[in-house]
Amino acid sequence: MPVPETTEARQAPPLHAPILINGAEAEVIRALRRQAKISRTEISNITGWSKAKTSLEIRSLVTKGYLVEVGEGSSQGGRKPGLLQINDQLGYLIGLDIGATSIDVVLANVGGKVLQRRTAVADVRQPPEEFLSRCSELILEMVKAQGCRIDQVLGIGVGLPGPVDFTHGVLIAPPLMPGWENFLIRDFFQRTFSAAYVVVDNDVNIMAIGEQRAGDGMQVDHFIFIKIGTGIGSGIVSNGKMHRGSIGCAGDIGHICVDKQGPICRCGNTGCLEAMAAGPAITERAVQAARNGSSPLLRHMMENNGGILRPDDVNAACREGDQAALEIIRASGQMIGDVLAGLVNFFNPSHIFIGGGITNFGNHLLVSIRRAVLQRSLPLATTHLSINFSRMGPEAGITGAVALAREYLFVMEDRPFSIV
Ligand SMILES: [Zn+2]
Repeated sequence: MPVPETTEARQAPPLHAPILINGAEAEVIRALRRQAKISRTEISNITGWSKAKTSLEIRSLVTKGYLVEVGEGSSQGGRKPGLLQINDQLGYLIGLDIGATSIDVVLANVGGKVLQRRTAVADVRQPPEEFLSRCSELILEMVKAQGCRIDQVLGIGVGLPGPVDFTHGVLIAPPLMPGWENFLIRDFFQRTFSAAYVVVDNDVNIMAIGEQRAGDGMQVDHFIFIKIGTGIGSGIVSNGKMHRGSIGCAGDIGHICVDKQGPICRCGNTGCLEAMAAGPAITERAVQAARNGSSPLLRHMMENNGGILRPDDVNAACREGDQAALEIIRASGQMIGDVLAGLVNFFNPSHIFIGGGITNFGNHLLVSIRRAVLQRSLPLATTHLSINFSRMGPEAGITGAVALAREYLFVMEDRPFSIV
């Protein structure tokens, strides 16, 4: 005798990310990554399915509660098509952008719309348990303010300032934060947010993802995002996908050698690009210029600053037309451009986006980078190459962190570790 179905038995179990879907469902979800709302006809055009099959697959996703019908699209003649989007009510996502001295965290719906944001000053050299507990507190504050449950948090995307083994979600030999070596960041968050899938990536990769999802990189299939700040790194998008390499450290260009006789880098080698051209190298040269008399302006600034100079001071000196400061920035841009030229020859991107704290140096830096790239790259590689500052500013990282969490909300049931 069949057991009568109880109400409890019919109720869908609470969701747990990643949500497993089959190949056909994945095609629909993939189409929705490119546009937030989509009509049946558009899905049919993208997938090549018949109307009947498209309706069947959509009905399956709507019945499961993953998709909902919203509003109406514009008509191409005839009845206006109903639009479909991912069901915002499925749950929430967290984007967490961890800097050397800051935490930036947002709570978004599964559609990627940011609902709340918190920022805090913090020192990443703290032990990871302490640092991440502060992050968890901020997330819990937002969950409470949103009036949702902890188990409705379905994804957490984390960006960290260090080399990340992407598969395992751990940092490997991070120069800035040695106490984090092999610390299980994913397990840490999943103890509190048990329904969430936690994805950990490095800070530059999440900026590249942000640029791709919401910036000028939206329609660009091959680009490099370079971050210049205290360090230098890059994120590579190839064929429209993030290229992380076999372990996750693709794009770590800060440690390419530009001068074997150069200063010792924090990685232990000598003359790395980062040690020669990033923020600390710029201020170091500015201090020298102040001391050796080649820049009276920088000396004046240093005296007024209690004996120190910051990158912003060098920037201000550039704006005043100080020749020594301009030369320092040009030299930095030249070295970065020389390394980028090699990458351009090797990878042939159509765009290079530059972000990070040094971007406020403006045109002097950009012009020297462009000049070096054009001088040293093959003409064919630079014919249509665009090199510009990212217009997203600090939003690139946090946007990318949410997008990363969103990418792993749905995965294919037969390939659970590859995103849809
Ligand atoms: Zn190095």
